[in-house]
Amino acid sequence: MTVVSALSPVPRGSRDAVLKFYFGPMDCGKSTLALQMNYNHSRQGRRGLVLTKHDRSGGARVTSRIGLGLEAVEVVDSLDLVELVTGHAGLDYVICDEACFYSVEQIEQLADLVDEHGIDVYAFGLASDFRSVMFPAAQRLFELADEVCRLQVEVLCWCGRPGLLNGRIVGGELVRTGEQVVIGDTDDSPVRYQVLCRRHHRAGLLGEGTLPA
Ligand SMILES: [Zn+2]
Repeated sequence: MTVVSALSPVPRGSRDAVLKFYFGPMDCGKSTLALQMNYNHSRQGRRGLVLTKHDRSGGARVTSRIGLGLEAVEVVDSLDLVELVTGHAGLDYVICDEACFYSVEQIEQLADLVDEHGIDVYAFGLASDFRSVMFPAAQRLFELADEVCRLQVEVLCWCGRPGLLNGRIVGGELVRTGEQVVIGDTDDSPVRYQVLCRRHHRAGLLGEGTLPA
């Protein structure tokens, strides 16, 4: 007789693997949830791998604004995620933080991991860039994922409305043109990002008291 408790490993092959995409603006707790999910699954005896790209720490780690952190594999454009993940024996799941920055080909590889290898993939990332245009990798995740979840952990625009979009600010002004990926909010970058509601992102209004010193 098999006794299954809440902490028993989930038997492999008992269900189809899934591809899930959790998206939301900056500061909505994506990385925190990614770390919590890794913790929960590993507590269940499942084996996982954590990937990231352009983490705020600047290193191969997933770090959250509230101070949690974990070593992770840095995803570079040349990395084949099927080779990487299947190269680790017996993985049950993969957590992909900052998946919006992966290549579209790498998103296809994540779907292959689910369908061909039975590995669960939990992807986290921004949906849209500073122009409110979808990142190609995020778009592919919307198209392919079994489940898509919007995270809204009380990140608010300065006006108090839900913050939905990421504004890129250079010299105190909201900008709408430029490279899709520019790392900001670091000491040596002139670029910073601010979460805004849709109307204030569209109007380019940053609110009083939020301009850089
Ligand atoms: Zn607003």
